[in-house]
Amino acid sequence: MNLSELRRALERARVRPVKSLGQNFLHDQNLARWIVDQARIEPADFVVEIGPGLGALTAEILRRGARLLALEKDARLVDFLRENFPAPNFEVRHIDALAFDTRGLFAEPNVKIIGNLPYYVSSQLLLRFLEQPVHITLCLWMLQDEMARRLSAEPRTAEYGALTLRVQLHHHVEYLRKISNRVFFPQPDVVSAIVRLTPREENDSAVRDDALFEHLVRAGFSQRRKQLPKLLSHYAGDWETAAKKIGASPHARAEELSREQWIVLTNYLARQQERGPTDGAAECFPVVDEHDRKTGTAKRAEVHANNLRHRAVHILIFNATGEVLLQKRSAWKDRHPLRWDSSAAGHVEGDETYDETAMRELKEELGVSVHLQVMGKILASEKTGQEFITVYKAECDGPFRFPPEEIKALKFFPVEIVERWVVNKPEDFAPGFLECWRLWRVSNSHPERSRGTPWSYVKGSAAGFLGFARNDKLS
Ligand code: SAM
Repeated sequence: MNLSELRRALERARVRPVKSLGQNFLHDQNLARWIVDQARIEPADFVVEIGPGLGALTAEILRRGARLLALEKDARLVDFLRENFPAPNFEVRHIDALAFDTRGLFAEPNVKIIGNLPYYVSSQLLLRFLEQPVHITLCLWMLQDEMARRLSAEPRTAEYGALTLRVQLHHHVEYLRKISNRVFFPQPDVVSAIVRLTPREENDSAVRDDALFEHLVRAGFSQRRKQLPKLLSHYAGDWETAAKKIGASPHARAEELSREQWIVLTNYLARQQERGPTDGAAECFPVVDEHDRKTGTAKRAEVHANNLRHRAVHILIFNATGEVLLQKRSAWKDRHPLRWDSSAAGHVEGDETYDETAMRELKEELGVSVHLQVMGKILASEKTGQEFITVYKAECDGPFRFPPEEIKALKFFPVEIVERWVVNKPEDFAPGFLECWRLWRVSNSHPERSRGTPWSYVKGSAAGFLGFARNDKLS
Protein backbone atom coordinates (compact mmCIF):
# COMPACT_ATOMS: atom_id res chain seq x y z
CA MET A 1 0.00 0.00 0.00
CA ASN A 2 1.19 3.52 -0.73
CA LEU A 3 1.11 6.42 1.71
CA SER A 4 -2.44 7.61 0.90
CA GLU A 5 -3.80 4.04 1.08
CA LEU A 6 -2.04 3.62 4.40
CA ARG A 7 -3.61 6.81 5.78
CA ARG A 8 -7.03 5.59 4.67
CA ALA A 9 -6.41 2.19 6.27
CA LEU A 10 -5.48 3.90 9.55
CA GLU A 11 -8.70 5.89 9.41
CA ARG A 12 -10.76 2.78 8.74
CA ALA A 13 -9.06 0.99 11.61
CA ARG A 14 -9.49 4.13 13.79
CA VAL A 15 -5.79 3.95 14.66
CA ARG A 16 -3.56 6.86 15.48
CA PRO A 17 -0.02 5.43 15.51
CA VAL A 18 1.25 5.05 19.07
CA LYS A 19 4.92 5.82 19.70
CA SER A 20 5.10 3.61 22.81
CA LEU A 21 4.22 0.60 20.62
CA GLY A 22 6.83 1.47 18.02
CA GLN A 23 4.13 1.96 15.39
CA ASN A 24 5.87 3.07 12.21
CA PHE A 25 4.08 1.49 9.30
CA LEU A 26 5.70 0.56 6.01
CA HIS A 27 4.10 2.18 2.92
CA ASP A 28 6.30 0.88 0.12
CA GLN A 29 4.81 -2.33 -1.20
CA ASN A 30 7.77 -3.02 -3.54
CA LEU A 31 10.05 -2.92 -0.56
CA ALA A 32 7.66 -5.14 1.42
CA ARG A 33 7.83 -7.67 -1.43
CA TRP A 34 11.63 -7.50 -1.50
CA ILE A 35 11.81 -8.00 2.27
CA VAL A 36 9.56 -11.06 2.22
CA ASP A 37 11.53 -12.47 -0.75
CA GLN A 38 14.58 -12.58 1.52
CA ALA A 39 12.81 -15.11 3.74
CA ARG A 40 12.57 -17.58 0.83
CA ILE A 41 9.10 -18.63 1.91
CA GLU A 42 7.65 -21.89 0.59
CA PRO A 43 4.05 -23.11 0.90
CA ALA A 44 5.19 -25.78 3.41
CA ASP A 45 6.57 -23.16 5.81
CA PHE A 46 5.07 -22.09 9.09
CA VAL A 47 5.69 -18.36 9.45
CA VAL A 48 5.34 -16.31 12.62
CA GLU A 49 5.08 -12.57 12.06
CA ILE A 50 5.75 -10.27 14.99
CA GLY A 51 3.88 -6.97 14.95
CA PRO A 52 1.99 -7.22 11.64
CA GLY A 53 0.49 -3.71 12.02
CA LEU A 54 -1.67 -2.97 8.97
CA GLY A 55 -0.34 -5.99 7.12
CA ALA A 56 2.30 -4.66 4.69
CA LEU A 57 4.43 -7.81 5.15
CA THR A 58 1.44 -10.02 6.01
CA ALA A 59 -0.05 -9.62 2.53
CA GLU A 60 3.22 -10.67 0.90
CA ILE A 61 3.69 -13.68 3.18
CA LEU A 62 0.15 -14.93 2.52
CA ARG A 63 0.66 -14.52 -1.23
CA ARG A 64 3.34 -17.22 -0.97
CA GLY A 65 0.89 -19.77 0.41
CA ALA A 66 2.55 -20.47 3.76
CA ARG A 67 0.67 -20.87 7.05
CA LEU A 68 0.99 -17.63 8.99
CA LEU A 69 0.57 -16.86 12.67
CA ALA A 70 0.73 -13.13 13.44
CA LEU A 71 1.27 -11.76 16.96
CA GLU A 72 -0.05 -8.22 17.46
CA LYS A 73 -0.29 -6.29 20.72
CA ASP A 74 -2.70 -3.59 19.55
CA ALA A 75 -6.30 -4.89 19.65
CA ARG A 76 -7.47 -2.34 17.03
CA LEU A 77 -4.98 -3.73 14.52
CA VAL A 78 -5.98 -7.30 15.35
CA ASP A 79 -9.59 -6.50 14.33
CA PHE A 80 -8.39 -4.75 11.19
CA LEU A 81 -6.22 -7.72 10.15
CA ARG A 82 -8.97 -10.27 10.79
CA GLU A 83 -11.34 -8.28 8.60
CA ASN A 84 -8.88 -7.64 5.80
CA PHE A 85 -7.10 -10.98 5.62
CA PRO A 86 -9.77 -13.66 5.94
CA ALA A 87 -7.41 -16.38 4.57
CA PRO A 88 -7.78 -19.93 5.98
CA ASN A 89 -4.00 -20.25 6.42
CA PHE A 90 -3.86 -17.08 8.55
CA GLU A 91 -4.32 -16.64 12.28
CA VAL A 92 -3.75 -13.39 14.15
CA ARG A 93 -3.37 -13.53 17.90
CA HIS A 94 -3.86 -10.57 20.21
CA ILE A 95 -0.81 -10.98 22.39
CA ASP A 96 2.39 -9.33 23.53
CA ALA A 97 4.93 -11.28 21.47
CA LEU A 98 7.21 -11.35 24.52
CA ALA A 99 4.60 -13.54 26.24
CA PHE A 100 4.23 -15.96 23.31
CA ASP A 101 5.04 -19.56 24.27
CA THR A 102 7.67 -20.53 21.68
CA ARG A 103 7.57 -24.20 22.70
CA GLY A 104 4.70 -24.80 20.26
CA LEU A 105 7.14 -24.08 17.41
CA PHE A 106 9.04 -27.30 18.13
CA ALA A 107 6.16 -29.31 16.68
CA GLU A 108 6.14 -27.38 13.38
CA PRO A 109 8.39 -28.09 10.42
CA ASN A 110 10.17 -25.16 8.66
CA VAL A 111 9.49 -22.39 11.12
CA LYS A 112 10.37 -18.89 9.93
CA ILE A 113 10.09 -15.71 11.99
CA ILE A 114 9.57 -12.34 10.33
CA GLY A 115 9.13 -8.97 11.89
CA ASN A 116 9.49 -5.28 11.38
CA LEU A 117 10.17 -5.15 15.09
CA PRO A 118 9.00 -2.37 17.35
CA TYR A 119 12.33 -0.83 18.29
CA TYR A 120 11.51 -0.18 21.94
CA VAL A 121 11.59 -3.93 22.56
CA SER A 122 13.54 -5.38 19.63
CA SER A 123 16.54 -6.82 21.51
CA GLN A 124 14.28 -8.50 24.07
CA LEU A 125 12.13 -9.92 21.28
CA LEU A 126 14.96 -11.29 19.25
CA LEU A 127 16.63 -12.91 22.25
CA ARG A 128 13.29 -14.37 23.31
CA PHE A 129 12.77 -16.02 19.92
CA LEU A 130 16.38 -17.22 19.72
CA GLU A 131 16.48 -18.60 23.26
CA GLN A 132 18.17 -22.02 23.09
CA PRO A 133 17.19 -24.68 22.34
CA VAL A 134 15.19 -23.38 19.40
CA HIS A 135 13.69 -24.86 16.24
CA ILE A 136 13.70 -22.03 13.72
CA THR A 137 15.00 -22.33 10.18
CA LEU A 138 15.23 -18.60 9.41
CA CYS A 139 14.60 -15.20 11.00
CA LEU A 140 14.19 -12.03 9.01
CA TRP A 141 14.17 -8.93 11.16
CA MET A 142 13.88 -5.25 10.38
CA LEU A 143 15.81 -3.52 13.16
CA GLN A 144 17.37 -0.23 14.04
CA ASP A 145 20.51 -0.03 11.87
CA GLU A 146 22.74 0.25 14.91
CA MET A 147 21.37 -3.01 16.34
CA ALA A 148 21.65 -4.79 12.95
CA ARG A 149 25.31 -3.81 12.81
CA ARG A 150 25.92 -5.13 16.32
CA LEU A 151 24.37 -8.49 15.43
CA SER A 152 26.45 -8.90 12.27
CA ALA A 153 29.70 -7.38 13.60
CA GLU A 154 33.20 -8.75 13.05
CA PRO A 155 35.90 -8.96 15.76
CA ARG A 156 38.00 -5.85 16.43
CA THR A 157 35.18 -3.43 15.63
CA ALA A 158 33.30 -1.13 17.95
CA GLU A 159 30.01 -2.95 17.27
CA TYR A 160 31.37 -6.40 18.18
CA GLY A 161 30.25 -7.33 21.68
CA ALA A 162 28.46 -9.75 23.98
CA LEU A 163 25.20 -9.48 21.99
CA THR A 164 27.05 -10.28 18.73
CA LEU A 165 28.53 -13.44 20.18
CA ARG A 166 25.36 -14.52 21.94
CA VAL A 167 23.51 -14.44 18.62
CA GLN A 168 26.36 -15.59 16.36
CA LEU A 169 27.11 -18.59 18.58
CA HIS A 170 24.21 -20.48 17.03
CA HIS A 171 23.33 -18.36 13.96
CA HIS A 172 24.83 -16.96 10.80
CA VAL A 173 23.88 -13.31 10.62
CA GLU A 174 23.68 -11.48 7.27
CA TYR A 175 23.27 -7.72 7.12
CA LEU A 176 21.14 -7.36 3.97
CA ARG A 177 20.52 -3.66 3.53
CA LYS A 178 19.79 -0.30 5.06
CA ILE A 179 16.22 1.04 4.95
CA SER A 180 15.53 4.76 4.80
CA ASN A 181 13.13 6.18 7.36
CA ARG A 182 11.12 7.79 4.52
CA VAL A 183 9.32 4.51 3.76
CA PHE A 184 7.47 4.60 7.10
CA PHE A 185 4.51 6.53 8.42
CA PRO A 186 5.10 8.20 10.76
CA GLN A 187 8.79 8.53 10.02
CA PRO A 188 10.99 7.19 12.83
CA ASP A 189 14.02 9.19 14.01
CA VAL A 190 16.39 6.36 13.20
CA VAL A 191 17.55 4.47 10.13
CA SER A 192 16.60 0.78 9.87
CA ALA A 193 18.21 -2.30 8.36
CA ILE A 194 17.28 -5.85 7.46
CA VAL A 195 19.15 -8.84 8.84
CA ARG A 196 18.70 -12.51 8.07
CA LEU A 197 19.59 -15.16 10.65
CA THR A 198 19.96 -18.84 9.83
CA PRO A 199 20.95 -21.53 12.31
CA ARG A 200 24.45 -22.93 12.06
CA GLU A 201 24.99 -26.67 11.78
CA GLU A 202 24.66 -27.81 15.38
CA ASN A 203 28.16 -29.30 15.38
CA ASP A 204 29.53 -25.98 14.17
CA SER A 205 28.36 -24.39 17.41
CA ALA A 206 29.38 -27.33 19.55
CA VAL A 207 30.05 -25.36 22.67
CA ARG A 208 30.26 -27.72 25.65
CA ASP A 209 28.38 -25.44 27.99
CA ASP A 210 26.20 -22.59 26.67
CA ALA A 211 25.86 -21.01 30.10
CA LEU A 212 29.64 -20.91 30.61
CA PHE A 213 30.08 -19.36 27.12
CA GLU A 214 27.65 -16.63 28.05
CA HIS A 215 29.29 -15.97 31.44
CA LEU A 216 32.74 -15.73 29.87
CA VAL A 217 31.63 -13.41 27.10
CA ARG A 218 29.70 -11.19 29.47
CA ALA A 219 32.63 -10.96 31.88
CA GLY A 220 35.05 -10.38 28.99
CA PHE A 221 33.06 -7.47 27.58
CA SER A 222 32.08 -5.99 30.96
CA GLN A 223 34.97 -3.52 30.59
CA ARG A 224 36.00 -3.34 26.95
CA ARG A 225 39.29 -1.56 27.51
CA LYS A 226 40.60 -4.04 30.06
CA GLN A 227 42.62 -7.13 29.19
CA LEU A 228 41.10 -10.58 29.58
CA PRO A 229 43.45 -12.03 32.25
CA LYS A 230 41.95 -9.58 34.77
CA LEU A 231 38.34 -9.96 33.65
CA LEU A 232 38.38 -13.77 33.40
CA SER A 233 40.58 -14.56 36.41
CA HIS A 234 37.58 -16.11 38.18
CA TYR A 235 37.19 -18.67 35.37
CA ALA A 236 40.74 -19.13 34.09
CA GLY A 237 43.31 -19.06 36.89
CA ASP A 238 46.12 -19.91 34.47
CA TRP A 239 45.32 -17.47 31.66
CA GLU A 240 48.73 -17.91 29.96
CA THR A 241 47.97 -21.58 29.23
CA ALA A 242 44.38 -20.82 28.24
CA ALA A 243 45.54 -18.06 25.85
CA LYS A 244 48.03 -20.45 24.26
CA LYS A 245 45.28 -23.08 23.79
CA ILE A 246 43.11 -20.63 21.89
CA GLY A 247 45.92 -18.97 19.96
CA ALA A 248 45.41 -15.56 21.55
CA SER A 249 47.80 -13.01 22.96
CA PRO A 250 48.13 -13.21 26.77
CA HIS A 251 47.17 -9.51 26.79
CA ALA A 252 44.14 -9.88 24.52
CA ARG A 253 40.97 -7.84 24.98
CA ALA A 254 37.52 -9.39 24.50
CA GLU A 255 36.91 -7.78 21.10
CA GLU A 256 40.06 -9.42 19.70
CA LEU A 257 38.79 -12.98 20.15
CA SER A 258 36.78 -14.50 17.31
CA ARG A 259 33.64 -16.52 17.91
CA GLU A 260 35.68 -19.70 17.33
CA GLN A 261 38.25 -18.66 19.94
CA TRP A 262 35.49 -17.99 22.49
CA ILE A 263 34.13 -21.49 21.80
CA VAL A 264 37.55 -23.14 22.18
CA LEU A 265 38.12 -21.20 25.40
CA THR A 266 34.73 -22.28 26.78
CA ASN A 267 35.33 -25.91 25.88
CA TYR A 268 38.82 -25.88 27.36
CA LEU A 269 37.56 -24.44 30.66
CA ALA A 270 34.44 -26.64 30.67
CA ARG A 271 36.53 -29.79 30.27
CA GLN A 272 38.50 -28.87 33.37
CA GLN A 273 35.25 -28.83 35.37
CA GLU A 274 33.87 -32.08 34.00
CA ARG A 275 33.71 -35.24 36.01
CA GLY A 276 36.02 -37.40 33.91
CA PRO A 277 35.73 -39.56 30.80
CA THR A 278 32.27 -39.55 29.26
CA ASP A 279 32.92 -42.08 26.57
CA GLY A 280 32.22 -45.03 28.86
CA ALA A 281 33.40 -47.61 26.31
CA ALA A 282 34.89 -49.63 29.16
CA GLU A 283 31.68 -49.84 31.27
CA CYS A 284 30.39 -53.39 31.75
CA PHE A 285 26.75 -54.22 31.03
CA PRO A 286 24.83 -57.38 31.86
CA VAL A 287 23.98 -59.22 28.63
CA VAL A 288 20.58 -60.97 28.59
CA ASP A 289 18.61 -63.50 26.53
CA GLU A 290 15.24 -62.96 24.80
CA HIS A 291 13.46 -63.34 28.18
CA ASP A 292 15.66 -60.73 29.84
CA ARG A 293 17.57 -63.39 31.80
CA LYS A 294 21.20 -62.55 32.45
CA THR A 295 23.63 -64.69 30.46
CA GLY A 296 26.88 -62.81 31.09
CA THR A 297 28.52 -59.39 30.92
CA ALA A 298 30.28 -57.46 28.16
CA LYS A 299 31.90 -54.08 27.65
CA ARG A 300 29.66 -51.29 26.40
CA ALA A 301 31.51 -51.01 23.07
CA GLU A 302 31.15 -54.76 22.49
CA VAL A 303 27.46 -54.76 23.43
CA HIS A 304 26.67 -52.05 20.90
CA ALA A 305 28.99 -53.30 18.16
CA ASN A 306 27.52 -56.82 18.30
CA ASN A 307 23.90 -55.84 18.97
CA LEU A 308 23.76 -57.87 22.17
CA ARG A 309 20.57 -57.71 24.24
CA HIS A 310 21.03 -55.61 27.35
CA ARG A 311 19.06 -53.52 29.85
CA ALA A 312 18.22 -49.84 30.15
CA VAL A 313 15.91 -47.49 32.01
CA HIS A 314 14.05 -44.42 30.80
CA ILE A 315 12.42 -41.92 33.16
CA LEU A 316 9.71 -39.44 32.23
CA ILE A 317 9.39 -36.56 34.68
CA PHE A 318 6.19 -34.52 34.75
CA ASN A 319 5.80 -31.18 36.51
CA ALA A 320 2.80 -30.16 38.60
CA THR A 321 0.97 -28.88 35.51
CA GLY A 322 1.47 -32.18 33.67
CA GLU A 323 4.21 -31.03 31.28
CA VAL A 324 6.88 -33.56 30.44
CA LEU A 325 10.60 -32.89 30.81
CA LEU A 326 12.67 -33.76 27.73
CA GLN A 327 16.43 -33.67 27.41
CA LYS A 328 18.37 -32.80 24.30
CA ARG A 329 21.37 -35.11 24.10
CA SER A 330 24.71 -33.38 23.83
CA ALA A 331 26.81 -33.29 20.66
CA TRP A 332 29.34 -35.54 22.41
CA LYS A 333 27.08 -38.55 22.94
CA ASP A 334 28.29 -41.56 20.95
CA ARG A 335 24.69 -42.58 20.17
CA HIS A 336 21.97 -40.25 18.86
CA PRO A 337 23.78 -36.96 19.54
CA LEU A 338 21.59 -33.83 19.54
CA ARG A 339 18.34 -35.83 19.49
CA TRP A 340 15.59 -35.25 22.04
CA ASP A 341 15.14 -38.01 24.62
CA SER A 342 13.39 -38.98 27.86
CA SER A 343 14.01 -36.83 30.96
CA ALA A 344 16.76 -39.24 31.99
CA ALA A 345 17.91 -42.59 30.67
CA GLY A 346 20.80 -44.99 31.00
CA HIS A 347 22.09 -48.52 30.91
CA VAL A 348 21.89 -51.04 33.70
CA GLU A 349 25.48 -51.65 34.76
CA GLY A 350 27.25 -54.46 36.66
CA ASP A 351 24.92 -56.14 39.17
CA GLU A 352 22.44 -53.28 39.41
CA THR A 353 18.68 -53.83 39.34
CA TYR A 354 16.53 -51.69 37.01
CA ASP A 355 15.31 -49.70 40.02
CA GLU A 356 18.82 -49.00 41.26
CA THR A 357 19.85 -47.83 37.80
CA ALA A 358 16.87 -45.51 37.59
CA MET A 359 17.71 -43.87 40.91
CA ARG A 360 21.37 -43.53 39.92
CA GLU A 361 20.61 -42.01 36.52
CA LEU A 362 18.17 -39.56 38.05
CA LYS A 363 20.83 -38.34 40.44
CA GLU A 364 23.66 -38.30 37.88
CA GLU A 365 21.77 -36.72 34.98
CA LEU A 366 19.31 -34.41 36.73
CA GLY A 367 20.69 -34.00 40.24
CA VAL A 368 17.44 -35.08 41.95
CA SER A 369 16.10 -38.04 43.94
CA VAL A 370 12.34 -38.45 43.67
CA HIS A 371 9.74 -41.18 43.99
CA LEU A 372 9.55 -43.27 40.83
CA GLN A 373 6.68 -45.31 39.53
CA VAL A 374 7.16 -48.06 36.99
CA MET A 375 5.07 -47.44 33.89
CA GLY A 376 5.95 -50.59 32.00
CA LYS A 377 8.59 -52.51 30.20
CA ILE A 378 9.52 -52.55 26.52
CA LEU A 379 10.88 -55.63 24.82
CA ALA A 380 14.33 -55.59 23.26
CA SER A 381 14.12 -55.04 19.51
CA GLU A 382 15.87 -53.22 16.70
CA LYS A 383 13.86 -50.11 17.57
CA THR A 384 15.28 -50.04 21.10
CA GLY A 385 18.83 -50.93 19.96
CA GLN A 386 18.32 -54.39 21.57
CA GLU A 387 17.60 -52.85 24.97
CA PHE A 388 14.98 -54.17 27.38
CA ILE A 389 13.73 -50.87 28.75
CA THR A 390 11.95 -50.39 32.06
CA VAL A 391 10.11 -47.08 31.86
CA TYR A 392 9.45 -45.01 34.98
CA LYS A 393 7.52 -41.84 35.63
CA ALA A 394 7.78 -39.30 38.41
CA GLU A 395 6.53 -35.88 39.39
CA CYS A 396 9.09 -33.16 39.99
CA ASP A 397 9.35 -29.45 39.20
CA GLY A 398 13.10 -29.29 39.67
CA PRO A 399 15.39 -27.45 39.95
CA PHE A 400 17.59 -29.79 37.93
CA ARG A 401 21.34 -29.80 37.64
CA PHE A 402 22.71 -31.57 34.58
CA PRO A 403 26.17 -32.35 33.16
CA PRO A 404 26.47 -30.25 29.97
CA GLU A 405 28.85 -32.76 28.42
CA GLU A 406 25.95 -35.26 28.45
CA ILE A 407 22.90 -33.05 28.07
CA LYS A 408 22.67 -29.99 25.83
CA ALA A 409 19.35 -28.77 27.18
CA LEU A 410 16.42 -29.69 29.40
CA LYS A 411 12.93 -28.33 28.82
CA PHE A 412 9.38 -29.01 29.98
CA PHE A 413 6.87 -29.37 27.12
CA PRO A 414 3.07 -29.60 27.22
CA VAL A 415 2.05 -33.14 26.30
CA GLU A 416 -0.04 -31.95 23.29
CA ILE A 417 3.06 -30.36 21.78
CA VAL A 418 5.09 -33.56 22.15
CA GLU A 419 2.20 -35.50 20.61
CA ARG A 420 2.27 -33.29 17.47
CA TRP A 421 6.06 -33.16 17.42
CA VAL A 422 6.61 -36.95 17.41
CA VAL A 423 4.19 -37.23 14.48
CA ASN A 424 5.54 -34.28 12.45
CA LYS A 425 9.25 -34.76 13.11
CA PRO A 426 10.06 -38.20 14.57
CA GLU A 427 13.63 -37.75 13.33
CA ASP A 428 14.18 -35.19 16.11
CA PHE A 429 14.00 -37.95 18.75
CA ALA A 430 16.18 -40.84 19.90
CA PRO A 431 14.38 -44.02 18.76
CA GLY A 432 14.18 -45.40 22.33
CA PHE A 433 12.21 -42.33 23.42
CA LEU A 434 9.60 -42.85 20.69
CA GLU A 435 8.97 -46.35 22.08
CA CYS A 436 8.71 -45.00 25.65
CA TRP A 437 6.31 -42.30 24.49
CA ARG A 438 4.13 -44.92 22.84
CA LEU A 439 4.08 -46.82 26.12
CA TRP A 440 3.24 -43.66 28.06
CA ARG A 441 0.34 -43.00 25.68
CA VAL A 442 -1.04 -46.50 26.24
CA SER A 443 -0.71 -46.32 30.01
CA ASN A 444 -2.11 -42.78 30.12
CA SER A 445 -5.20 -43.59 28.12
CA HIS A 446 -5.86 -46.55 30.47
CA PRO A 447 -5.11 -45.19 33.95
CA GLU A 448 -6.50 -48.33 35.61
CA ARG A 449 -3.37 -50.08 34.42
CA SER A 450 -1.18 -48.16 36.78
CA ARG A 451 -3.34 -49.10 39.78
CA GLY A 452 -2.56 -52.81 39.59
CA THR A 453 -0.60 -54.87 42.04
CA PRO A 454 3.12 -54.78 41.52
CA TRP A 455 4.03 -55.92 38.03
CA SER A 456 0.43 -56.62 37.08
CA TYR A 457 -0.03 -57.44 33.42
CA VAL A 458 -1.61 -54.75 31.26
CA LYS A 459 -4.27 -56.32 29.08
CA GLY A 460 -4.40 -55.43 25.43
CA SER A 461 -1.22 -53.45 25.47
CA ALA A 462 0.33 -52.52 22.15
CA ALA A 463 2.47 -55.14 20.48
CA GLY A 464 6.07 -54.94 21.57
CA PHE A 465 5.33 -53.91 25.13
CA LEU A 466 5.53 -56.36 27.96
CA GLY A 467 3.00 -53.92 29.36
CA PHE A 468 3.56 -54.21 33.05
CA ALA A 469 2.44 -51.54 35.42
CA ARG A 470 3.43 -51.17 39.01
CA ASN A 471 2.55 -48.73 41.67
CA ASP A 472 5.27 -49.18 44.21
CA LYS A 473 7.31 -46.14 45.04
CA LEU A 474 11.08 -46.11 45.21
CA SER A 475 12.92 -43.72 47.37
N1 SAM B 1 4.80 -4.89 10.25
C1 SAM B 1 4.13 -3.62 10.12
C2 SAM B 1 4.77 -2.81 9.04
O1 SAM B 1 5.88 -3.18 8.61
O2 SAM B 1 4.18 -1.83 8.60
C3 SAM B 1 4.14 -2.84 11.44
C4 SAM B 1 5.49 -2.61 12.04
S1 SAM B 1 5.52 -1.53 13.43
C5 SAM B 1 7.22 -1.03 13.40
C6 SAM B 1 5.50 -2.56 14.84
C7 SAM B 1 4.22 -3.32 15.10
O3 SAM B 1 4.43 -4.14 16.25
C8 SAM B 1 3.01 -2.50 15.43
O4 SAM B 1 1.90 -3.00 14.74
C9 SAM B 1 2.81 -2.63 16.94
O5 SAM B 1 1.47 -2.46 17.35
C10 SAM B 1 3.31 -4.01 17.12
N2 SAM B 1 3.83 -4.28 18.49
C11 SAM B 1 4.46 -3.45 19.34
N3 SAM B 1 4.86 -4.07 20.45
C12 SAM B 1 4.48 -5.35 20.29
C13 SAM B 1 4.61 -6.51 21.11
N4 SAM B 1 5.22 -6.47 22.30
N5 SAM B 1 4.08 -7.68 20.68
C14 SAM B 1 3.46 -7.75 19.46
N6 SAM B 1 3.31 -6.67 18.65
C15 SAM B 1 3.81 -5.50 19.05
